[in-house]
Amino acid sequence: MQAPVPFNSPTIVGTESELLSAALSNRHISAGGPFTKEASELLRDGLDAKAVLLTTSCTAALEMAAMLARIEPGDAVVVPSFTFVTTALAFARQGAVLRFADIEPDTLGISQRTVAPLIDESVRAVVPVHYAGIPADPVGLRNVVDAQNDCLLIEDNAHGLFAELDGRPIGSIGELSTLSFHETKNFSCGEGGALVVNDESFVERAQVLLDKGTNRARFIQGHVDKYTWVDTGSSFGLSDALAALLVAQLRERDSVLSKRRSLETRYRSLLGDPLAKAGFTMPSTVPGASTAAHLVSVLAPSYSVRDALLNYLRGVGIHATFHYVPLHDSVGGLDRSDREYDCPVTTDVSQRLLRLPFFTDMTQAQVDRVAAELLLAIDKLL
Ligand SMILES: *Cc1c(COP(=O)(O)O)cnc(C)c1O
Repeated sequence: MQAPVPFNSPTIVGTESELLSAALSNRHISAGGPFTKEASELLRDGLDAKAVLLTTSCTAALEMAAMLARIEPGDAVVVPSFTFVTTALAFARQGAVLRFADIEPDTLGISQRTVAPLIDESVRAVVPVHYAGIPADPVGLRNVVDAQNDCLLIEDNAHGLFAELDGRPIGSIGELSTLSFHETKNFSCGEGGALVVNDESFVERAQVLLDKGTNRARFIQGHVDKYTWVDTGSSFGLSDALAALLVAQLRERDSVLSKRRSLETRYRSLLGDPLAKAGFTMPSTVPGASTAAHLVSVLAPSYSVRDALLNYLRGVGIHATFHYVPLHDSVGGLDRSDREYDCPVTTDVSQRLLRLPFFTDMTQAQVDRVAAELLLAIDKLL
């Protein structure tokens, strides 16, 4: 049997250890050092943001967003059911009651259409996920949120870093958005994330929350003569040692993206037509948007075909997987929502979606092998 193809392998650009050594030589490895500054600036400029704060994870950045939105027990927050747990959990921890919106079958994201029926005056935030970097109706959701008093658009942009819609970076329409640098994401430092602040009025308080509830940032900038406890917060800041790994990768932004985009294009050209003939679809980005090249997925015509394909591929050493287990009918989700939600598209897609191996250093030969085995399996099964 040929060498197995893993599902994921973390992006490594080669200069990480050099910059990690530099962080150690600097004798600054806690949060807020020179690499934190450089990574934040690269992201802020690349995303056209007011500020970017590096955090220990995307989850931590979502928790900060929930605090910035001043979510209190009983406030409602609209989230997708088709997402990773912490899109919802970060708000529930702050006391929010969750309302689960269904996704659109083409973008696999929530939309004005699916969110509008869930809106009333108790909704404090709407939290879209741009699945695979496909924009989840940012303009429509902005309109829904703007029609409400005291409601924020907070984009969980863990998948969409550096994708654009009509020339604007994904994650720039919400007051706040969040990024993940977990090892499964395009750019990574093992565990890490960022809070992207697009609305100037949140910048100062975001810094306080990150600095354990203190006004340390204002002290460092010379605005106050000592720093003290002023607000809520936590220890959200990323170590400068990990920020050094991230800087190494962000300096190689173009080469990482172009490798991933060419692998994605290769998958599409090998699979698009034959899959369509067999009744499958491949979710792809919308007109006017560029791809984040974060993941490659296929929608099988049925649950049983998807599962049979997963088993077949595993049997030949190819690690494909499913995505996501819906939140609206999970134990945790039912406990934290105000009623039972019906999200039929989410339930259907989660049973038919197959994610294929995809990572920055994947070879073309590996892509070719995965595509060939998938098509062979479909021939045998259908
Ligand atoms: C990866 C991911 C997260 C969590 O990221 P962490 O950095 O591991 O906290 C949250 N939301 C989505 C959509 C993700 O894909």
